[in-house]
Amino acid sequence: MCNPFIAFFVVCFINLISLLNLSAQDQQYSKSLHIDDKPPNVIFMIGDGMGLTHITAGMYSQKNTTALEKMEFIGLQKTHSHNQLITDSAASGTAMACGQKTYNGVIGIGPQNEQLESILEYCIKKDYNTALIATSSIVHATPASFYANVTSRREYENIALQLRYHDVNYFIGGGQKHFNRRDDKRNLLTEMEDDGYILVNNLSDYVDANNEKLGYFTYSDEPPRINEGRKPQLEELVSATLEKLENTKKPFFVMIEGSQIDWGGHANDVPYIISEFKDFDKAIESSLEFAKDNGNTLVLVTADHETGGFAIEKGNLKRGSVSGDFTTIGHSGSMVPVFSYGKNADLFKGIYENTAIFDKLKTAVGE
Ligand code: MG
Ligand code: ZN
Repeated sequence: MCNPFIAFFVVCFINLISLLNLSAQDQQYSKSLHIDDKPPNVIFMIGDGMGLTHITAGMYSQKNTTALEKMEFIGLQKTHSHNQLITDSAASGTAMACGQKTYNGVIGIGPQNEQLESILEYCIKKDYNTALIATSSIVHATPASFYANVTSRREYENIALQLRYHDVNYFIGGGQKHFNRRDDKRNLLTEMEDDGYILVNNLSDYVDANNEKLGYFTYSDEPPRINEGRKPQLEELVSATLEKLENTKKPFFVMIEGSQIDWGGHANDVPYIISEFKDFDKAIESSLEFAKDNGNTLVLVTADHETGGFAIEKGNLKRGSVSGDFTTIGHSGSMVPVFSYGKNADLFKGIYENTAIFDKLKTAVGE
């Protein structure tokens, strides 16, 4: 009597189990089907003032190699601003970050006085996590182009105020004094901490901190040159940040600036340019490693303009020595290269205006 009864339940039980298994498999299957539709991560790297000669000098000085040789596609961008053939970093930063040519000196505002939305802000709307890393102060023109709207790049305290209210998750850079030693006597550091930010002053605290909003001020003022002891290396900042971003499981957008390649150009100082390029190149290397392992990441490396009108005149490949000359202590008008690798990297081949970087990035993350 009992046996068929038990057998009935056993059969039912087995059916139930296999049903559950099937639906679990179904779920896994549909997940893996959509894996390619996941919005890609973006690592956008800007070597400020990094023309082709700066890259070449850096390459020859480190045994004729650069991480850029691993890039898949190469393009060229035209850097002229709205009103001048020779751009500054505010107008070119705005062009790449926000897709509009504007007046030199202006950040995040178009020539008709329109407030512009940056690609970083566009990504936030798409539920991305975001980060900004610079080897200058964090309120300098290039990083500011991604979060601020000001008519003059010199409004550092106003730019700091705009970062204080922004939704960027992680930032690293100098310029803490613009937050806590201000004309208006406000202490933006305590204000930000009250709003849930964790703010730190060294790499190990940055690595240890586990918070959705995290800022690391490397220096109170502008950071020094790498060959005068700036610490940490850019590569360390990048690795620590990429690890955090990867752990959040959301897609991410990060802008990384090798800020002082430009300052070496302004100083017409070849060793300064080369040492800053090397610091930047190592960060490119680890970004590429990350992208290779991750498989759903776009790495973009470019400059905002060329600085110095730099040309190489002499050198020795074996000794890795390079010397050259400059046509200006300002910026020059030559096009600058764009290197891309990974997800949707092919979008960046060809010759185009600097504003197209914004449009292409928008396409790359999915409009
Ligand atoms: Mg800059
Ligand atoms: Zn400059």
